[in-house]
Amino acid sequence: MTTNLAPLSTPEAVRAAVRAFLDENLDPDISLRAWLDRLVDAGWASPQWPTEWFGKGLSGDLAAAAFDEFRKARAPGPPGGLGRMLAAPTIIAHGSDEQRRRYVRAILIGDEAWCQLFSEPGAGSDLASLQARAEPDGDEFVVNGQKVWTSGAIGADLGMLLARTDVDAPKHRGITYFALEMDQPGVEVRPLKQITGDAMFAEVFFTDARVPAANIIGDRNGGWAVAMTTLMNERVGLGAGTALNFGISAPGGRRVLPQLEQSVGEYVARAGSTVVAAASAGAMVGRGIDSLLELARSRGRGDDPQVRHQLARLYTLTKLNGWNGIRATAAAKAGKGPGPEASIGKLMVSNIVRQWRETGMAITGGDGMLAGTDGPLDGGVARQLLFAPGPAIYGGSDQVQRNIIAERVLGLPKEPDVSRNVPFRELKVGTQTKPAE
Ligand SMILES: Cc1cc2nc3c(=O)[nH]c(=O)nc-3n(C[C@H](O)[C@H](O)[C@H](O)COP(=O)(O)OP(=O)(O)OC[C@H]3O[C@@H](n4cnc5c(N)ncnc54)[C@H](O)[C@@H]3O)c2cc1C
Repeated sequence: MTTNLAPLSTPEAVRAAVRAFLDENLDPDISLRAWLDRLVDAGWASPQWPTEWFGKGLSGDLAAAAFDEFRKARAPGPPGGLGRMLAAPTIIAHGSDEQRRRYVRAILIGDEAWCQLFSEPGAGSDLASLQARAEPDGDEFVVNGQKVWTSGAIGADLGMLLARTDVDAPKHRGITYFALEMDQPGVEVRPLKQITGDAMFAEVFFTDARVPAANIIGDRNGGWAVAMTTLMNERVGLGAGTALNFGISAPGGRRVLPQLEQSVGEYVARAGSTVVAAASAGAMVGRGIDSLLELARSRGRGDDPQVRHQLARLYTLTKLNGWNGIRATAAAKAGKGPGPEASIGKLMVSNIVRQWRETGMAITGGDGMLAGTDGPLDGGVARQLLFAPGPAIYGGSDQVQRNIIAERVLGLPKEPDVSRNVPFRELKVGTQTKPAE
């Protein structure tokens, strides 16, 4: 092991430590799995996590310096996806030590992929109205109900399930957070095809699905507080874009396992730029300004005032979001948890993604609609044209982020919610029925 390195208290020290780690460990001939083992065990896969749970306890800015060094070396990071962004930090915050041991490493190493089973047909922004039920049965719970918009459900090994466990309590207080095994007879995943042609999300139906009581994360009926941790991490993750991201774009689990057997060298050669940018909208934004500048130049559109105007807007929004990220980092350094900056960042990303779409279309005109490798940026302009409305909805819609900013930053009164203290069973919420195939 490397010795004589300075304590990891400055970006320079962190960068030096990463470089030393890379010198000793990044070997193009070892398998991706062997490399991830080294990365995870050394605490570099997610250095902002606590030292006892696979991290190095680094603040956000120091972790960003580490990621930057890994990106420069084109070193594959841990698989992306909702396990790493949401499940692991939630389990670290609220799970038992046994649960942390059981789940966190498996996420980082790519063995298990997770999906987020929160939204339902009648519970999106008003998530606390969710109706999926989990009834106790011995040392298990039996789950019935429906989720929708579940990103990555196809191929997920586990789900972060919010289910109602006490209908006599008010809606926020009778919810429990479970780690649910997806591969079981009571769980049916039906893909939903999007305008992009992909089926990135699905409907998930539970018919007497089972989950052990030991898989409750946090307290029984205390799932709302646990869900808030997940949602805060979602806002931060989606708002940060690439800043805290390096890694394999696939989410891990069943679909990625075969990839882990190839050598690091093979993987990097094949994956190209996706090695260093997770496939999130934020990552698209992170790469976007450079790729669009190049596109404008290559098409002789760099002098067009319209195009220049759009590019300048995109640059400005991206810079502003970067500064917002620095503000969030400073708040974290001062010992404050993720705060309203997360909502501002999330809102900014919606704007940036829309601006990216406008800029791409201003440069390419009708060509921008060409999908597949024939289209500009290998179809990236067309993809973004169709995908751009998404970020303003997922992870809490733009309107909901504005509510959070209004209440928590501007100190405006909370939205009235007359149902807040009423037992859930007395609320008039629709009942879920499973449509025929
Ligand atoms: C691409 C994509 C991926 C997703 N992935 C997942 C996932 O993996 N797991 C998951 O659980 N969910 C996922 N979602 C669901 C997402 O979280 C919900 O769509 C979102 O919370 C909005 O809920 P809704 O669709 O029910 O809309 P609604 O809540 O019904 O909202 C409809 C409209 O009313 C507005 N509105 C609602 N309440 C308020 C209010 N209080 N103040 C002001 N305006 C309001 C909304 O902003 C929106 O414009 C995903 C969504 C998308 C688009």
